[in-house]
Amino acid sequence: MALKIIIDRDLCQGHSVCMGEVPEVFDVVEEDEGYPMVKVLMENPPEELREKVMKAAKYCPNHVITVIDE
Ligand code: SF4
Repeated sequence: MALKIIIDRDLCQGHSVCMGEVPEVFDVVEEDEGYPMVKVLMENPPEELREKVMKAAKYCPNHVITVIDE
């Protein structure tokens, strides 16, 4: 099984907590309008990043990160 990251981009407000937890997987980029927005660099991160990815999902203030096994 592989990890898969799903983001609800409508609710992301660019807090960058995710990037702080796993910079290999999440970046936060400026948008033309509104808040900065998360950019997923790795949609299917390797197993060794699972713990960090789960932390990012847990601590995202807006709870927009969903992690599934597929
Ligand atoms: S922590 Fe959550 S709200 Fe903040 S940039 Fe990451 S995904 Fe978006």
